Amino acid sequence: MRNVVIIGSGCAGLTAAIYAARANLKPLVIRGLEAGGQLTLTTLVENFPGFPAGVQGPELIDLMQKQAQVFGAEFMESNVTRADLSKRPFTIEVESEPIETSTLIIASGASAKLLGLESERKLLGHGVSTCATCDGYFFRGKDVVVVGGGDTAAEDALFLTRYANEVTIVHRRDQLRASKIMQDRLFRNERIRFAWNSTVTDILDSSRGEVTGIKLQDVKSSDENVKPVSGVFIGIGHSPNTAIFRGQIDLNESGYIITHDGSKTNIPGVFAAGDVQDHIYRQAVTAAGSGCMAAIDAERFLEAEGK
Ligand code: NAP
Repeated sequence: MRNVVIIGSGCAGLTAAIYAARANLKPLVIRGLEAGGQLTLTTLVENFPGFPAGVQGPELIDLMQKQAQVFGAEFMESNVTRADLSKRPFTIEVESEPIETSTLIIASGASAKLLGLESERKLLGHGVSTCATCDGYFFRGKDVVVVGGGDTAAEDALFLTRYANEVTIVHRRDQLRASKIMQDRLFRNERIRFAWNSTVTDILDSSRGEVTGIKLQDVKSSDENVKPVSGVFIGIGHSPNTAIFRGQIDLNESGYIITHDGSKTNIPGVFAAGDVQDHIYRQAVTAAGSGCMAAIDAERFLEAEGK
């Protein structure tokens, strides 16, 4: 029986692990399918305090995990498939093995959203990607598109200009949602083009098992045209990883865990931190901050029970 189990190993989960370990709670971290979280899919992080020259996302995550291990946090390379939060101790299932815990910190993050096209599903990993920093290298000298108009799409597009010949941002409106500084960088970059007011209606060519182009539709005129490209990067945001908690824990209409008074959920003893409960800020530093809050809340909860 554990004092604290932490689900997720991104910024939020690892910060919770550092704090819980330093409080002698011997936390167990289940690293999850997308171990390390969103920061492992990025390159230079320029806005995490303490790194004036920036820090590589995967390096930052690696340092956080090592820091948690220094204080005795344990890690499991697994994924939680089921959770029973109806009674204490809570039970979570990891590869069919039940683990009991007094408190639970959910820091399972959010995963990249997809457009929902059949061809997109078929070509994922064969020219369609949700991770520019992972796959950009394969598109040296090629033409690619990035779908989306937020900071993720902007960051992906800028990163892809290192390799690709031309990067076209396909956005469904005529204005970007990305921050001003990212927009300025996009507009200054000669390799970046824009397909405004456009949606991707199909990705070609599933029958060949590779991307040869996309069908673009103008949202105003409904006109369609085919644009030859070799890669499609989907950068349209994220959805929270809360499927296994549905029906047990209060979620908002988009599926994010609702927290109150810091990291508390509607279930006493269950706390949530990071992107799984934050659809507004979603920054590395805010995720880390909420992970710290969750560990402190769990510690105080156990203390109040005399543990
Ligand atoms: P986002 O801000 O929610 O933007 C998603 C974009 O995708 C929007 O432009 C949206 O269009 C478009 N979109 C959504 N669903 C679509 C669909 N089905 N088809 C076509 N387009 C679709 O998400 P994000 O870019 O992932 O950013 C999330 C948060 O992380 C933000 O707070 C952002 O600032 C932060 N972030 C920061 C950095 C950084 O600081 N370097 C990097 C990445 C992310 P509409 O605009 O029309 O809604």
